[in-house]
Parts: sequence; C-alpha cells; structure tokens
Amino acid sequence: MEERKSALDVPAAVVEITRRLEERGYATWAVGGAVRDALLGSSRTDWDLATAATPETVRKLFRPSYPIGLRFGTVGVRGRDGLVYEVTTFRRDIETDGRHAVVEYADTLDEDLARRDFTINAIAYHPLRHEIHDPFDGRSDLQRRLLRCVGDPARRFAEDYLRVLRGLRFAGRYGLEVETATWTALTTAVPGTSRLSGERVREELIKVLEAPGAPAALELYRRSGLLAELFPELDRLDNEEWGRRLRAIADLPRDPVRLRLALLFEPLGETAEETLSRLRFSNAEVRDVTELGAALREPLPPPDDVKAGRRWLRAVTPEWAEDALRLQAALAEGWDAEEDERRRLEAQAARVREILERGDPVTLSDLAIDGNDLKELGLEPGPDFGRILDACLDAVIEDPSLNRRPALLELAREMT
Ligand code: ATP
Ligand code: MG
Repeated sequence: MEERKSALDVPAAVVEITRRLEERGYATWAVGGAVRDALLGSSRTDWDLATAATPETVRKLFRPSYPIGLRFGTVGVRGRDGLVYEVTTFRRDIETDGRHAVVEYADTLDEDLARRDFTINAIAYHPLRHEIHDPFDGRSDLQRRLLRCVGDPARRFAEDYLRVLRGLRFAGRYGLEVETATWTALTTAVPGTSRLSGERVREELIKVLEAPGAPAALELYRRSGLLAELFPELDRLDNEEWGRRLRAIADLPRDPVRLRLALLFEPLGETAEETLSRLRFSNAEVRDVTELGAALREPLPPPDDVKAGRRWLRAVTPEWAEDALRLQAALAEGWDAEEDERRRLEAQAARVREILERGDPVTLSDLAIDGNDLKELGLEPGPDFGRILDACLDAVIEDPSLNRRPALLELAREMT
C-alpha cells in the first residue's frame, strides 16, 4: 500500500491527542473532511480522528471527554486549545437498509476507510508520521476533480440514500464532475431518497445552502432528478425561472441562511409551510421563511411615492424590510436587470430606508392609541377593535400627522 510523505497543517492539539493514543499502541489517523480540505489547500478546525482504541479506552485516556455518539463509537476529546475533537473507533458496517447502519468496531484503518462514501472522503493522514494513506486514490480524484464512490456505486447508494444528497453537495461544493458509474448509480438511487427522514434532508439542504457552490449543487439536484423527487413544485419551474433563482441565490450571503431558503422556497407560495414542516424545520424557522417569501411577493413601491412606501413597510413589516430589500436586489441580479432598473431598485430601497429611519408610523404598535384607549371610550373588546385600529393605521399611513391621541380617538369615535 502506497504511503507518501507530505505535511498537512494539523493543529498541535490534534497531534497531541494522536501521540497519546499511539504511545499506548493504538493506531490513530486523521480522516474525513479536514484531510480532504487540507489537501485542497483550505484549512478547517474540525479535525476528526479514527483510532483502533475503543471508546471506553479513549474516555479513560482523556479527561474531560464527552460521549458524542457512543453508539457509533465517537468520543469528544477536549484538546489543549480548548476545542473538542471527535475521536471515533474504526468501524465497519454489518447491516444497512438505506437509512440506518448497524456498525461494529473494526480492527484496521482500511476497513474503516472502505465504509466511507466517496474516495475524496476516504483519505487518511497520520499526524505524527505525516503519511497519507489513500487506498482508493482519493487524491488523484481530487486532482482530477472527480467524485467517485468507494467500491460499487449502486451498492453504496442503496446502503444509505443520504449519499445521493451528500454526493451532489460535494460535487457542487468543490466543482467536481461525477464519474460515470457513480452518476448512473446515483440517478438510479434517487427514488430511494424519499425514504429519508425530513431531518436528514433538511440538514443536507442547509449544508448545501451554507456552502460555496450552492447553485451548482442545486443544479445537480435538478439534473439528477432529486429535485423532482423531493420538491416536485420546484422542479416544475421552467429553465429560465430556475436559472434566475440560482443566480439570485449565488448573489445572496450564505449567512443567515434564511435568505437563501426564502428565495428557494418562495415559488411554493402557500404550500411552502407544509413542505418546510415536512422537513422538520422549527416553527420559528417556518415562520421566518414563509414571511420572507410573502414579503418578496410584495412589489416594491415607486421611489417617489412615500405613502406607497409606508404601505409596503406595513405589509412587509419593518422587521423584515432589510431582508426583503436584500432579496429583491438578489432577484434583480438573477434577472440580469438593466442598469436603469438597478438604479430604480436602489432608489426604492433608499426611500424605504428613509421612512424607516424617520420612524413614520407603519405598524399597529406605532399608533398613538391602543385597545385600552378604545375600552376607555366604552367600546367592547372584540373583532371591532382590530377593524378600528386598522382603519386608524390606514389614516396615519396616508397622513402621519394624524398620529396623535386626540385625533385618533376622534376618528375611532366616528367609526362606532
Ligand atoms: P463536511 O463536514 O464538510 O460536510 P465531511 O467529509 O467532514 O464534510 P461529515 O458528514 O462530517 O462530512 O463526515 C465525516 C466523514 O465521515 C466523511 O468524510 C466520510 O468519510 C464519512 N461519512 C459521513 N457520512 C457518511 C455516509 N453517509 N456514508 C459513508 N461515509 C460517511
Ligand atoms: Mg465534517
């Protein structure tokens, strides 16, 4: 087996953990994403170790240590830099059903690498000896920019359909071409992904949206048939509209991810809520994304119409105004808007921000009166309250100088 020297930039704390295990005779290697990314020239902090030591041994050797996924043999070890590193006992799969795996501890690194999904994820690096152990030629695939399964692709996807999503994510993230046999097996496995839990799909989708290359990964979702399988409503967008969305997503920041989520799911309209809930997004996240989607459907006011500006802010709410402006700008970018259109958008945004800064009343809570005042007028609390306060807000939006208690009480009285 070929082993070549080449020093990667491993944190000193990881070297130290490795040394302690190796000194006791337990083979220990750095594996996974950090090795892959280091070989690509980008560094990250989450180095994972694979070791011959059992979790019990690891827990005894390192205090404090934390049971992160003891069922899977993973122990969290705090390094002297204060970070927690995952140390996982060599494993092999003994049973898989497309969604879960039953694993047992393995004796060798090679067995452990053989259960990993793609060759680029199956490269091990020895932090003390600076050796690379790469039985599946992951490095040459990295160089050739190729995504390739470890072992028989059809079998590997059927073992765990999440690998379909992972593969497309890695291909998008690193601009990889999917090797032919891997692509054939992947597209054939797409129907199996419907058996994945909403949580796992959500976690993958978030990782896609938070990473560089998100548009490329989403395009692969579409080309592979995964989009049609998981989000048929999005697959129905025509090529032009889909391309526009992808360019808009590319224009948006990766963080906060709600912006990209909102733009992606906005075409679902009313059904977005159902789809997001199926993916087990929290209620707060569902609300954020659907409200942003609704805000995005609210056309921006003409820049010279300050009343329309206040009406827009009322509909969108000041809370979502900045996000909505950002999304509108991204969509214009996606559409490849003409220069004068861009200028108009900027003017519209500037006007809306002016209104916000001036603090013009645009929400019920900005009104100089509230429900208590209506009670004092002798009105019975009920649906009428909302109607009256809404009407007051209508008036105040047309003319903010009306936003004084006497004027509004007068108005309220007239309405009863
Ligand atoms: P990133 O953290 O950037 O998403 P990663 O490669 O670190 O990428 P993880 O999900 O953190 O991915 O997993 C760490 C490693 O574990 C992977 O590199 C891969 O070797 C292995 N792995 C993870 N999930 C699977 C899976 N579903 N099937 C096979 N191997 C997997
Ligand atoms: Mg990782």
